[in-house]
Amino acid sequence: MSEERTSRPEWADDGKMFATSYVKGNDRAHLAKENRSIKRKERSVEEYVAGVLNHDRTILAQAITLIESNAAKHTEKAQRILHELLPYVGRSIRIGITGVPGAGKSTFIEAFGQFLCEKGHRVAVLAVDPSSSITGGSILGDKTRMEHLARHPRAFIRPSPSGGTLGGVHRKTRETMLLCEAAGYDIILVETVGVGQSEVAVRGMVDFFLLLALTGAGDELQGMKKGMMELVDAIVINKADGDNKKKAEVAKEEYNQILHYLRHATKGWETKAYTCSSLYGEGIEQIWEVIEKFVQTTKQSGVFEERRREQMKDWLHAMIKDYLHNRFFHHPVVQQQLPAIEEDVMAGKQPVTMAAEQLIRLYEER
Ligand code: GDP
Repeated sequence: MSEERTSRPEWADDGKMFATSYVKGNDRAHLAKENRSIKRKERSVEEYVAGVLNHDRTILAQAITLIESNAAKHTEKAQRILHELLPYVGRSIRIGITGVPGAGKSTFIEAFGQFLCEKGHRVAVLAVDPSSSITGGSILGDKTRMEHLARHPRAFIRPSPSGGTLGGVHRKTRETMLLCEAAGYDIILVETVGVGQSEVAVRGMVDFFLLLALTGAGDELQGMKKGMMELVDAIVINKADGDNKKKAEVAKEEYNQILHYLRHATKGWETKAYTCSSLYGEGIEQIWEVIEKFVQTTKQSGVFEERRREQMKDWLHAMIKDYLHNRFFHHPVVQQQLPAIEEDVMAGKQPVTMAAEQLIRLYEER
């Protein structure tokens, strides 16, 4: 058995790449394989729904594959499954985790996830990897990650959907989150890598957002965008162990001083810095206490529910935008006229606003 096979838990869907294997850049081949895998195990909507509600991880994985497929037939079926499952979604705490590569995200999730499972929770780990929509490859999935958690009977790990547009990756992650909730996972961890755009998207799908940071804060603080710090509900300085422990404490104070002057991401909640060592499991419990306090505070004030409602509305708007964008740019009239209009604009022969209006008029009159 190859290394890849042995690190794959028994319930992982055969046709689907797992977090412990590299997601190759060849997107078409990958999707073709995926579609074959769906075909082989084609189930009825009722079977999918019953399987998910029965906490069957194999069927859950297959239902997610259906959601991730770009084939119209699968999308339609996936939407019917989601519709049936809607009464069972939403009863989880959704936690986003971000940080630069090397900050220790997978080590943290491994420790935090196991801690939560031991406490009796059921934990699903999803990933939003912006690189997968650009290169078809993956930053988050390129090494062996979270091996112990992956084998835990109360945990479920799903890598970032590969291929498609960034908007597509976000939709798939949101819908996957709902499926996991229907399958009884009461903690959803959404991991992303720190490159701006996807952080805003993840903020838009979680209740609590956590930034994993490193020491050497002096330099890092200079470089870290204020906007990033205003997106999160906690900053956790990881690797607070050994020689680094003191430095981590200093960094925590520095972060706290800056946070004091920034706008907080969540109304009624003060974003603060903490330290932890994911490698030695220190400080993990405290972070969970912070999150529990956050949930209690925001549920009491109504901010929790209000954010979720707003997120649904934003999601609807994002979907409409995506849909219209695709319709517009795929329309034959637009495809035919756009190159010449682009040329005119670039050559300074037509003002941009006028050109855009002309193209939209052509599209609307089609
Ligand atoms: P990711 O790229 O953010 O997912 O980071 P990883 O979890 O892969 O961690 C990057 C490196 O930092 C690995 O070599 C880890 O073993 C190490 N690391 C992660 N957390 C800790 C920690 O708490 N303490 C120490 N000393 N090393 C850590």
